[in-house]
Amino acid sequence: MAWTLTVTDLKQYTYCPRILYFTRCLPDVRPTTEKMAEGKRAQEEEQGREERRQLRTYGFSTGQRHFDVALCSGALGVSAVIDLVILRPDGQNAAIPVDYKLSTLAGEHFKLQLTCYGLLVEEEMALPVPYGFIYLMPERRPQKVPLLARDRARVRQALVEMRELIETETMPAATTRPARCVNCEFRRFCNDIF
Ligand code: SF4
Repeated sequence: MAWTLTVTDLKQYTYCPRILYFTRCLPDVRPTTEKMAEGKRAQEEEQGREERRQLRTYGFSTGQRHFDVALCSGALGVSAVIDLVILRPDGQNAAIPVDYKLSTLAGEHFKLQLTCYGLLVEEEMALPVPYGFIYLMPERRPQKVPLLARDRARVRQALVEMRELIETETMPAATTRPARCVNCEFRRFCNDIF
């Protein structure tokens, strides 16, 4: 497979396909923003809290927690580092991925990212992943997200489209949701949006 993508690529592509074009086809233009640094800091702090947090936060009494789980799928051509994976909670034959987000909403791009984590876990850890959690850091609450067949198919389709975009170096259309452009770090490169 020509390109190993990351699950972060998938999240960004789902948010706006043009972001993938900038990060993969023009990698030197990406500015570093305070928002990105803040997100990274918050994620590191959250991990410290997560280690003190109890499994009951997720509704479980028992299970094994694994932090920063690095996985790579040859079949999907995708790699990821998952914030937390809970193995066999309450004796279930399942693995549950958890993704921390500095957000109050579990948007579609976050849900597809979590779904892709599920596909990676199923392939690499050989356990079913019926659902996962997006942990909304500002609200300090986990949101349960079922990993639906529809979303699994969307992930696979998006990965095909992403590879084509990179291989052809074709700049896609801007997002149809201009509100997403307001705080986008690539805004100054998108001269056609306003
Ligand atoms: S400014 Fe808007 S169209 Fe351009 S990359 Fe960002 S979100 Fe996409």
